[in-house]
Amino acid sequence: MRTATGAEFPVRVPSPLHEVVDERLTRRGVRLLLKREDLINPEIPGNKWRKLHPNLTAARAAGQDTLLTFGGAYSNHVRAVAAAGHHFDFGTIGVIRGEEHHPLNPSLSSAVAHGMRLAYMDRTTYRRKHQPDVVARLREEHGDFFLIPEGGSNAAAVHGCADVAREITEPVDVVCCPVGTGATLAGIAAGLPPDVRALGFPVLKGGEHLATEVRRLQSEAGLETDNWHLEPDFHFGGYAKRPAELEAFIQDFHTRHGLRLDFVYTAKTMAGLFTLAADGRIPAGSRVVAVVTG
Ligand SMILES: *Cc1c(COP(=O)(O)O)cnc(C)c1O
Repeated sequence: MRTATGAEFPVRVPSPLHEVVDERLTRRGVRLLLKREDLINPEIPGNKWRKLHPNLTAARAAGQDTLLTFGGAYSNHVRAVAAAGHHFDFGTIGVIRGEEHHPLNPSLSSAVAHGMRLAYMDRTTYRRKHQPDVVARLREEHGDFFLIPEGGSNAAAVHGCADVAREITEPVDVVCCPVGTGATLAGIAAGLPPDVRALGFPVLKGGEHLATEVRRLQSEAGLETDNWHLEPDFHFGGYAKRPAELEAFIQDFHTRHGLRLDFVYTAKTMAGLFTLAADGRIPAGSRVVAVVTG
């Protein structure tokens, strides 16, 4: 994709796929490859690029010059939309859950530095943010816009995430990824051959309910598959919780492999995968890809 000035936006796609040798897995006969989506672009990394670029293309095709999206105050997605607006010449509006707090946290300061206008929405209304009456009121207030749902998760995003799986040309049995809204898992599962399984690791408590969302997203995209399931027991206390046990896993993984996993998403997936392998729940002889989503 070209930026506002006509320059090519630098994205590393296909993202690299590296084997990682770890005795804890080797002992179980499991081989691990990392799909380094975090290396796609520093400002719009990983699945944020996969989900946004088809939406940017759709917004341009629709002749829209403003993007509006939703997120919590620490949303990686909101920050990525602001960066995308800056580089691809869209005005951006970020509707943030809850009250305004000053000074702005690093995520929101970065969004504002990229020209995003912030609007705050009380939590009760926020729960209904995608409903027509709430969206109509946003249009009255901000003028016309191209709506990108929370997390960037819509049918276009599912198609974008399917490319992650389609880029894997080596033989593989299982692909693991974190689950926030579920669009990344929905796309990855859809992009795999039917005999390859996708395992999603929800980062929130009660993540088993996200199966409904994954199914809805696949169905909206016209890409329904049944080669995936959720592993809901690796939320480590809930969204953005960082218990000592998870921190120790991150430190140890960094020491062994030189890669610092992000505590909200990718560390939980990797820790979950290592536990499943240790418990013999990943059959010996399996080749596993862990998607480092950002
Ligand atoms: C946003 C994000 C996710 C969540 O992806 P969903 O498609 O919402 O499930 C996963 N990993 C990283 C690194 C993220 O930033």
